Amino acid sequence: MEFIPLVNVKQQFQDTKHSILSSIEKVIESGQYILGQNVLELERKLAEKLGVSDVITVGNGTDALVLTLKAYGITYGDEVITTPYTFFATAEAISRVGAIPVFVDIDSQTYNIDPKKIEEKISPATKAIIPVHLFGQAADMDDINTIADKYKLIVIEDACQAFGATYKGKYAGNLGNAACFSFFPTKNLGTIGDGGMITTSDQELAKKVRLLRQHGSQVKYHHQIIGYNSRLDELHASILLEMLEKIDVWNEKRREMANYYREKLQHVPYIKISPEGKDRTHVYHLFCIESPERDALMKWLSQFQIQSAIYYPCPLHLQEVYSKLNYRPGDLPVAEKMASNLFAVPIGPFLKKDEQERVIAALLAFGGAT
Ligand SMILES: *Cc1c(COP(=O)(O)O)cnc(C)c1O
Repeated sequence: MEFIPLVNVKQQFQDTKHSILSSIEKVIESGQYILGQNVLELERKLAEKLGVSDVITVGNGTDALVLTLKAYGITYGDEVITTPYTFFATAEAISRVGAIPVFVDIDSQTYNIDPKKIEEKISPATKAIIPVHLFGQAADMDDINTIADKYKLIVIEDACQAFGATYKGKYAGNLGNAACFSFFPTKNLGTIGDGGMITTSDQELAKKVRLLRQHGSQVKYHHQIIGYNSRLDELHASILLEMLEKIDVWNEKRREMANYYREKLQHVPYIKISPEGKDRTHVYHLFCIESPERDALMKWLSQFQIQSAIYYPCPLHLQEVYSKLNYRPGDLPVAEKMASNLFAVPIGPFLKKDEQERVIAALLAFGGAT
């Protein structure tokens, strides 16, 4: 029995190896390795695709969040509202600039921040909301933007898992004041290393972020502010230009696979698959299943050489590092329930049809608690 990985990222880069190697060669020969033509071209193409005025590439998705928060002046004493059900980096970036993450429970269908619960957490110190488009599906952006307008808050999308996702016909990355993406290898649009970007149509912000990523400098050796060194390498930009050609086909494949899982698993009593949210295109960075028998089910799959994984086992409000924020178990019950019921099964453009059939067969063969 061959092992089926959760994400077959190795296959992705093996299949694209020739074009990657030739772009690497071109970069080496160009003699320009930092902020050169490839970065310029990638930023231009991405801005055009997503429908924003500016794209600023940076070192990784976490830096994209940190630099955006920093550029908006968010700092000590400020509060930023976000979801407890995300990768740690979302909250880490808030803490990194000195602000306090305020966690709001999630919606039980989309697993994204629940807009109905945001207003009660807004205080005079609240400066921004960071919704995460979790697993590749956009958050309820209309409701979030309405609240943000009312209280004059900045909205920063964490779109790290959602390249190509749409909401009411607009791309994720174009749904708030600014958005942050990651090009980590396993993301829908990824490279063979770290990378990230900020997308925005706020040109003031774009200017500040461009300064921040490059030591606060616009003219070489002249520094206006204290910045960072956080740039996307030319090498990765050239690889991402290749990946960008394929991303729409890859995302479509993910959607087809998700539909097939839904079709085959819809009447299984120990499995719940949440319906897609209205007015949006889900790009299935991960395909997650709810089950009260999750742990047994995952163990069962592993016997068939099928990898599965928990996203996320500990919601952020209960992380050790945030114990000083004084959340208790039970405070954010939906997130806590998902942390014990949700798990991801293999999906991706490089999962073969017969492999998906094997995953489905194994899930169907599970007897339940016997
Ligand atoms: C991957 C990810 C990040 C961080 O991106 P890096 O490039 O790994 O720094 C942030 N938020 C979410 C939701 C992510 O999935």
